Amino acid sequence: MSRLSFTLEKESPGSKARAARFQTAHGEVRTPVFMPVGTQATVKNMTAEGLKALDAQVLLANTYHLLLRPGPEVFKKFGGIHRFMNWDRPVLTDSGGFQIFSLPEARVMTEAGAQFRSYVDGEVHFLSPESSIEMQRTIGSDIMMVLDQCIPSTASHERTETAMHLTHRWAVRSLRARGDSPQALFGIVQGACHRDLRQRSAEFLRELPFDGLAIGGLAVGETHEQRYAFTDLTTDHLPKYLPRYLMGVGTPIDILESVHRGVDMFDCIIPTQLAQRGTAFTSHGRLHFRRSVYKFSDEPLDTACNCATCRNHPRAYIHHLIKADETLGWQLLATHNIAFYQRLMAEMRAAILRGDFLTYYERQRLELVREDGENPPVHPAPARAKHLPRLGDYEVQVSSKGFNSIRQISSGEVMHSISAPEEEANRLYIDQSHLAARLYRNEESDAQPLVIWDVGLGAASNAMAAIRCAERELTAAGPAALRPLQIVSFERDLDPLTLAARHASRFPHLRHGAPYGLLKESHWNHASGLIEWRLLRGDFLDHLEAAPAPDLIFYDPFSSKTDTALWQTEVFARIHRQCLPRRTELYTYSASTAVRVALLLAGFFVAEGIGTGPKATTTVAYSRLNGRRDAPDTPRLLGATWLARWRNSGSKYPAGLDEMQKAAVAQRIEGHPQFAPTT
Ligand SMILES: [Zn+2]
Repeated sequence: MSRLSFTLEKESPGSKARAARFQTAHGEVRTPVFMPVGTQATVKNMTAEGLKALDAQVLLANTYHLLLRPGPEVFKKFGGIHRFMNWDRPVLTDSGGFQIFSLPEARVMTEAGAQFRSYVDGEVHFLSPESSIEMQRTIGSDIMMVLDQCIPSTASHERTETAMHLTHRWAVRSLRARGDSPQALFGIVQGACHRDLRQRSAEFLRELPFDGLAIGGLAVGETHEQRYAFTDLTTDHLPKYLPRYLMGVGTPIDILESVHRGVDMFDCIIPTQLAQRGTAFTSHGRLHFRRSVYKFSDEPLDTACNCATCRNHPRAYIHHLIKADETLGWQLLATHNIAFYQRLMAEMRAAILRGDFLTYYERQRLELVREDGENPPVHPAPARAKHLPRLGDYEVQVSSKGFNSIRQISSGEVMHSISAPEEEANRLYIDQSHLAARLYRNEESDAQPLVIWDVGLGAASNAMAAIRCAERELTAAGPAALRPLQIVSFERDLDPLTLAARHASRFPHLRHGAPYGLLKESHWNHASGLIEWRLLRGDFLDHLEAAPAPDLIFYDPFSSKTDTALWQTEVFARIHRQCLPRRTELYTYSASTAVRVALLLAGFFVAEGIGTGPKATTTVAYSRLNGRRDAPDTPRLLGATWLARWRNSGSKYPAGLDEMQKAAVAQRIEGHPQFAPTT
């Protein structure tokens, strides 16, 4: 019978993230939870009141350090750590194993335990599974950990297997030593980076009467990818109805990734350790307070934070304290950093309980790895250099309305010059195509993927608008209601996206993991598996026959002045052949007569699209009509009025045609079924 009466409250769809609660002798713990580390029965630079004010639920204390100083007699005198440090909420103690095994010179290891020399007074101590439990019982923690043999995560299979078996034998001895103590006890899964050993270790320990299971031996030498992969693998083999604790992890991004992989509990010294180095985690990325950019800053540390530090002190003051090595600076930053971690955990828990953790996860993946977004840590440029960022043939341009765009230097063309990129993407492509409604399954579509061609990736504003639209619907309706979305972007030049991504503070639509995945792998998948984004790199004309047939086309290359070929009848005819027999809709910003003629000649039915700012109309083209020409979904099909205007237009024909060809074009336009008299 578990001593924690664990309740699993909710599992988030499309993710392994879970929200749970359990009871300890000193109160309830709600997960996912971050446990600030109080190595010496103190969280560095924080009072117990300060931690409570930030709603810290559990503290971690280190058995090894407390055994050496102040020693077990002091805890006996005070009846345990809670009264000693004036903390009446839960405490978790580690076993001391990790610290002892990090001192390879100063210890002797046997089957019985480890003998080591104290760093405080040089005296020899012996730590066994039994003596570790005895010390943890004296400390009086709510949750104890078994003594395990820690080895580097890069250890060989043979060495790892030997250590794992020893850890298992020690786990059995620890349970026996716990006896009838009301304190909970967690086992620790080992196995370094060996899949079979991780699985065997989890399977062995889950059969024993532990109150929770930890994942040990990670965050000690492996890559991030390995850490995530082995966390994922291990939680697959852990019981659902016990808390899961990933020891010593980690940074905010590591915690986010691990919650996504099914972990409930975390501890790490990073928030308080980095505070002492002058680093703060904020909603604008990490700020380094030794930098003189804050010398005169009157702003609060983080406008998104309501902690005492952010409420009371400008950045300039914190910068000053950190430069002067004043301990108050460390206290202010420790308070803020713990507040940041607490908010991250609370937001994740709320998102899981709402059932939309995935959306939160995708948004935060990028936010959590940003450096200072307002004062990017760049190498100082010459003082007068005020020019805007450039890459290759592209530069960032700031419009008179204050939004940023990408400009091609050679042609002078600005991507989305009229309104902010996201705004135009949403109006012209997302709202007009009713993308949100199309993402839902119905009898006709069933679970067939909806395919979007994104022609002219640019700075990815159209593709990102589609991804965010799908994420909103995923949150609102859950994955079961939706069809998969496949976005295929065509682009030969990745410089505009690379440039914009390097300056994501200017391009808010890129604050997401997707564009970075695309740049790195030419491919990105939403964690739900429902959204896929692929890049076909190279000339659109080389790839268009190889791409899956589209339902929607966002046609957004540079204009016909710059990218002539892409606006000609031959290309539209090739697109049209790829669309049939589907009813594909093509949306484009151009409303020019030449473009509309080219589309009609290619076989499309052509309608007026919505206006964007100063442009009165844009263009929508249908590969075929569903039914009648005046069907409610094609209300703005060009008709007799447009035809009359065309007859009188100076740009009636594509350039370079002789008289015979002109006559043929005229005949095809006049005879297009779109303009046939209705009966
Ligand atoms: Zn704060």
